[in-house]
Amino acid sequence: MKPSWDVDLLVVGAGPAGVAAAVMASSLRMTCVVVEAEGVGEKLRAIGALENVPGGWSTGAALAEALAGDLARHQELGRVRVLSGRAVRVTGHDDCVEIALEDGRVLTASAAVVATGVTTLAPGDVPWIEAPEIRQLPPLWRTTADELAGRRVVVLGADRPLGTWLRTHPQAQVHLDVLFPEADQYKTDEVAGDPRIRLDLVDHVTVASVPRGFRITAEHPGGGAHAFVVDNVLGNIGSKPAAVPGLVVEEGGYCPTDEQHPRVLVAGDLKGPRMQRIAVAMGDGARAALEPYYRNQTVLGGPSKSGR
Ligand SMILES: Cc1cc2nc3c(=O)[nH]c(=O)nc-3n(C[C@H](O)[C@H](O)[C@H](O)COP(=O)(O)OP(=O)(O)OC[C@H]3O[C@@H](n4cnc5c(N)ncnc54)[C@H](O)[C@@H]3O)c2cc1C
Repeated sequence: MKPSWDVDLLVVGAGPAGVAAAVMASSLRMTCVVVEAEGVGEKLRAIGALENVPGGWSTGAALAEALAGDLARHQELGRVRVLSGRAVRVTGHDDCVEIALEDGRVLTASAAVVATGVTTLAPGDVPWIEAPEIRQLPPLWRTTADELAGRRVVVLGADRPLGTWLRTHPQAQVHLDVLFPEADQYKTDEVAGDPRIRLDLVDHVTVASVPRGFRITAEHPGGGAHAFVVDNVLGNIGSKPAAVPGLVVEEGGYCPTDEQHPRVLVAGDLKGPRMQRIAVAMGDGARAALEPYYRNQTVLGGPSKSGR
């Protein structure tokens, strides 16, 4: 199939890592196409309270707007183009890299940065939850305080977004029963003092749909179980890498950048489970765009297509 675009750099994913890669590429006069499945900075928009982000950004929505503004400025300069679409395969060749999109388009470039981040774990992804009828639970971190007001809510998992949610909604009158496995124990310190939650260490949880909600059976370490019915169950189980087929994946599904085809770079949360932070993703994305810029003049050979 004839390629739809042929540029210096393809970037897959427009989160902090992908936007930083595109901005760096454009500032080096490289032409760049960014492919984004949901919207620039879409994940950030649901994060109510940010920490550790240089520049004083305190909400994800404000940072997402800034990233979208950055991309728009580089689009106006004519070096960046943003395509709405989902990448379904990345293929490195001797002379180019190809990205296939769900709608059949195929994009080619000298190099690609894949920065598709992580996606929410489903109950079926973890051994400590059994919920055969439930494919996905609404994630706590995308839920507003109004949606939970006056309801008995069970949260499965004590992953870090629990603390983010409580900080984002300091006035919310909620009571969250948090059932969490041993592996999440170390994350509970930052929320343990909040009177709006009850932390309950479990070995195993079974969730079944019943007419007025969900029947939960919680089994505890050392034996003993209790069962109850609630009208609302939210997921806070963690995340898994959103690897694009064609990438080299290691155990756990993450994509180490050193293992990829020389024309394929990986940046941001997709690289590994540690250091998943906005500032790290931005640095990673910028660095990933610089790699092919320097390598073009040596290993890969051939002039840059910049300026076409
Ligand atoms: C609740 C919560 C709170 C957080 N709080 C903080 C905080 O306070 N400070 C901090 O530093 N970090 C925080 N983080 C972590 C931070 O959000 C991530 O580290 C950061 O967003 C990673 O950036 P990224 O660009 O690698 O991935 P993402 O931001 O996940 O961006 C990936 C992008 O790729 C797109 N995409 C995925 N698959 C495809 C595909 N196949 N084709 C095309 N596009 C695709 C997605 O739509 C998305 O826009 C928080 C995360 C959560 C969930």
